[in-house]
Amino acid sequence: MNSLHARYPFLASAREAVRDANLDLAAVIAGEGDRHPAVERGVERVRRALLDGTVRAPDDGRRWSTSAEVLSYPIARMLVSLLDAPGAVEKYANAEATTAYERFTADFETPDDGLKSTRGTSLTLETFLADFDLDDDVVTRRDGFGVAVSTYISLAREFGDEWRLVTRQLDDGVVVVSQAELHELLRTAVEIRIADDLPLPVPDEIGVALADELSELESSFTDADFSHDIDTLAPELFPPCMSALLARARDAESLPAHSEFTLVSFLTSIGLDADEILSLCEVRSSGRADRLRARIERLRDERTTQFAPPSCATLQAYGDCVNKDERCETVTHPLVYYEDALDESGTVTDWRDR
Ligand code: SF4
Repeated sequence: MNSLHARYPFLASAREAVRDANLDLAAVIAGEGDRHPAVERGVERVRRALLDGTVRAPDDGRRWSTSAEVLSYPIARMLVSLLDAPGAVEKYANAEATTAYERFTADFETPDDGLKSTRGTSLTLETFLADFDLDDDVVTRRDGFGVAVSTYISLAREFGDEWRLVTRQLDDGVVVVSQAELHELLRTAVEIRIADDLPLPVPDEIGVALADELSELESSFTDADFSHDIDTLAPELFPPCMSALLARARDAESLPAHSEFTLVSFLTSIGLDADEILSLCEVRSSGRADRLRARIERLRDERTTQFAPPSCATLQAYGDCVNKDERCETVTHPLVYYEDALDESGTVTDWRDR
């Protein structure tokens, strides 16, 4: 196991490294004494994914060894599977893919410089494509990249209107894309791979051994410092970040995946169903409506939205924290902002009744 595997644990080579290490994962999980660092990191991975939309290490100074990082990935997948909550798999896969995207876009721009200290830790585009069996489907061109039509269709199917095949330049059997567009497609490939076989069937003995970790995770979601029963829709009281994302959605802008996820999870958290979200976002094109509806339905928990949208810290990291106002200085989460704004405003007429 090496640091490339730690940074990209979903790679086939990382899976092989775990297999070659001949480790008994069940023994790691069920071991006596202190919790194994891989289990601790696995719990943190899921918590960060579901609450903050990222799987980066937290900012509290804790760091894990390479092997703990690599092993935390299969453990996190088991934890997400055991949570068995609507929206958890999608949010987890989205967070893993978002973190991978941040890393590989940086790696592709600054490949290893051959120094001993960095050699082999950066992911190259060639390695990525080979690992995903895409090396025959993506070609480099003078004006960007060409992607085989079938691959393009399967990876861009949930994107906005400007990704529709009829609007794209086709040349010699490939769809022409820019470098940034190729990276978006690769991000989706990661998300699909991660979500593909989730939830996993987890052996009973591992489920029992992870019982404490599951309770810890469940209580960290329910202990989040906002209530889950907001049911008033008053867009004028939205935090500035959500107002900005809503305005962009209404302008039919194709939001980056993490931004769309943030907006949709915020709106589902305050009780909107798919029709209400489409109406609020003024979605008119049927292609965009179908794509957004599929995302909303996957996210929406019929009982309650258990997994909140990302925190202010994560929105800041993504550049989606904009137009901060005075209330922003008092909160760490957009839902807390909205809850406080509703409390202070007294009686408001719900947008759906106007
Ligand atoms: S501080 Fe938080 S609530 Fe305010 S705009 Fe930024 S992310 Fe939104």
